[in-house]
Amino acid sequence: MIHDVAIVGGGICGLSIGWKLAKRGLRVLILEKGEAGHGATWAALGILFPRVGDDPRGPAFTKLCVESHRLWPTFAKEVESESGIEIDYGREGTLLPAFEAREEDQLRRQYALLRKSRVGAKWVSGKELRSLEPNMSYGVRSALFNPLVHRVDNRKLALALKKAFLVVGDFREKTSVAKIVIQGGRVIGVSAGGSTIRAHKVIIAAGAWSAGIPGLEERIRPPVRPVKGQVISVKVPEGRRLLSHVIHYADTFLVQRRDGRLLIGATVEERGFDTKVTAGAISKLLTVALAVIPDIDTLPLGEAWAGTRPGSPDGAPILGGTNVEGLVMATGHFRNGILLAPITADLVSEYVISDKLPALAQPFTMNRFSN
Ligand SMILES: Cc1cc2nc3c(=O)[nH]c(=O)nc-3n(C[C@H](O)[C@H](O)[C@H](O)COP(=O)(O)OP(=O)(O)OC[C@H]3O[C@@H](n4cnc5c(N)ncnc54)[C@H](O)[C@@H]3O)c2cc1C
Repeated sequence: MIHDVAIVGGGICGLSIGWKLAKRGLRVLILEKGEAGHGATWAALGILFPRVGDDPRGPAFTKLCVESHRLWPTFAKEVESESGIEIDYGREGTLLPAFEAREEDQLRRQYALLRKSRVGAKWVSGKELRSLEPNMSYGVRSALFNPLVHRVDNRKLALALKKAFLVVGDFREKTSVAKIVIQGGRVIGVSAGGSTIRAHKVIIAAGAWSAGIPGLEERIRPPVRPVKGQVISVKVPEGRRLLSHVIHYADTFLVQRRDGRLLIGATVEERGFDTKVTAGAISKLLTVALAVIPDIDTLPLGEAWAGTRPGSPDGAPILGGTNVEGLVMATGHFRNGILLAPITADLVSEYVISDKLPALAQPFTMNRFSN
């Protein structure tokens, strides 16, 4: 049997693209070396944060993020209804607290940018803050409210996507792709488990591992590297809501899941594929968390973990075709892969079906690295 599409990697990118393509009638096979969604997708915080106004990655990237953010409510509803798994998608927004006048000045500049973009940002006084987030430190003078920041339980999302995909497509876990098989300038499939699996198109969605898959010569190897992120969680007693919003302070996010876990993360470290949890990183994360929400002090620790983001040279994803016919990229999503899943699925599946890359994806092909 020849598959229409073989996808290397069963993280959020591979699963959401595979799900979309299989629903449109294509024979799709996803190959995953470990367990579905246990790469960066498992390690993430699940914050859906389109940075508007000041993203150094430029307007095309902002547009991609904003469009994906717009798709999220429908995407979440579809995944939930087709899988029967609830994914804890929330749209409460984020609060960015300021303890000092200097921090207030910085946040006021962000506020001005957000106001220009008319996203409904608000300046919140210390008094108002007590009613919005009663557990926030009394040391906080004021805060910026950004309603654009949404959240999802990324682990539940991966489980739900896998279940929804299995209804329409084929999935092989614990199956590592040993080689991309290319003949006469076109891809003919992948080699895995000692045999060649034939496919008309192959999508590289292998996250931080994308550059290391054998069979890709230099000119078609995606320039993706692992970027480590560490996270810790604490356990909030059942029925208690310690936080009603995502909190963003000192490059750290705090987010409470419906199941009571409160996540604190994440570091950004260049350490290759090392995923050791370190005392220093956990100490820094907890210091920030305790400063903002002092009640965390008495809560039991949950888990601590580290994962590797797929980082590209400019921090933006790599999407679309390559110089090899039938070989498609969907990788390099770095810190935004959960946010970008709906748009990645739409753009890449459109490209696979029509051979035309939608305009929104055109700034993100491999070609941008050729010079
Ligand atoms: C600590 C941390 C926090 C983050 N927080 C956020 C956040 O809040 N919001 C956000 O939007 N993003 C966040 N991210 C980024 C996001 O998690 C990633 O961008 C996204 O998960 C990438 O998805 P992926 O499918 O490309 O990669 P992955 O989820 O890593 O999936 C790739 C899969 O490919 C498989 N694979 C690799 N090689 C092979 C092979 N040869 N054969 C078969 N399978 C293979 C791997 O086993 C893996 O399962 C965070 C990441 C980390 C690490």
